Amino acid sequence: MEEDYWTVPLHISSTKCWKCGTKEGLELWRTMTTVPYWKPCKVCGYKKKWIAPKERHMACPACSTALVSGKEESYETMSEHVMDVNGGPRPRRPTWKCPKKKCIVHKSGGFYSYSGSFYSGDVYIPVPSKYWYARFSIDDEIDRSIKKSMKKRDVKP
Ligand SMILES: [Zn+2]
Ligand SMILES: [Zn+2]
Repeated sequence: MEEDYWTVPLHISSTKCWKCGTKEGLELWRTMTTVPYWKPCKVCGYKKKWIAPKERHMACPACSTALVSGKEESYETMSEHVMDVNGGPRPRRPTWKCPKKKCIVHKSGGFYSYSGSFYSGDVYIPVPSKYWYARFSIDDEIDRSIKKSMKKRDVKP
């Protein structure tokens, strides 16, 4: 059931159309299994190409560099934690790391899960909470929609 949910396309952001100038004419979407993709402009049909290579679909929130895949690690995802707090050891799965040596995220030795949440590394370097979700990731999208709905209901996070 959970897996089905992730395949639902998520709207990431909108931007002004490069061709006709329509505000929020171009929409960026992604699914769990695809890189982010642009939908054609709602007004003029202009199609913007996404240039990131397929294996680099998430980006570092601190330095904007595309994340590269690291070695597989055993970790619990956000949704697993919510749905099954006392679940046993989790399987080994892909990790994503910031390759920029000067970046705080890289220096911390931490990594992002396949869904985009940050896990701290062996070296203790505090990574600010604004970098806890990889750009263009599903967890980042969820985090932002949660914050938005809390704001709407006037609940302090
Ligand atoms: Zn347009
Ligand atoms: Zn970085």
